Formats: sequence, C-alpha cells, structure tokens
Amino acid sequence: MNRWGIPEWLEREVKERDDRCVYSGIEFSADNPSRRCKPSWEHIVNDARIVTRENIALCCIGCNASKGPKALAFWIWSKYCATHGITPDSVSSVVKAALVVQTTAVANGAATPSG
Ligand SMILES: [Zn+2]
Repeated sequence: MNRWGIPEWLEREVKERDDRCVYSGIEFSADNPSRRCKPSWEHIVNDARIVTRENIALCCIGCNASKGPKALAFWIWSKYCATHGITPDSVSSVVKAALVVQTTAVANGAATPSG
C-alpha cells in the first residue's frame, strides 16, 4: 500500500490506464517541464474509503488543486474546466462513468456541492 492507502495492484493498474490526466488529458511525461503536469492521485468521488479502480485515478496537479474538495458534478462546470476545455464529454471514460452516477445523485438531492 502507498501512503494514500492504495494497494499495489491497484496502483499498477491505474498507472497503466491513466497515462494522461483523466480530466484535462495532459500527457504525463518525464520531459514535460511543468510541475502542474505531474500526475497526482485522485479520488474521483471525494471519499477516501472508496479505493476501487472506478474511483482511483491519476490527474495532473493543476486539476487536482482546482477540484480540491468539490464534487465532480459541480467542479466540471467551474471556470477552471471551461478555461481548460474540460467538459463531461472530454474527460476519460472512468470520469464519465462517475459523473453519470454523481449527476443522478445530485438530481435526487443525495449529493451536495462539497462532496
Ligand atoms: Zn489535468
């Protein structure tokens, strides 16, 4: 397990799947000079107890910092996402799946902007 409580097999699997930011699509490469483009561990739904391949992903530091504790279904409409061309259609499939679930939860009053 790493310090985020992610087991090794899952860490490997996610690293293989997410070779670019699941939100902005920025490529993670060693020769990318921007620190904002470095990968960081992301809980798509902000619940540290959900450690599954559907909820653990890699996103760039820029996206992670912007999303912070916000719920995905609200953050996706933020100014940051608009600026970076991040839309429900542009994100990776793992995020799309989570977005469908969360948007339904928001519509049912089960989720709030903070998570
Ligand atoms: Zn990003």
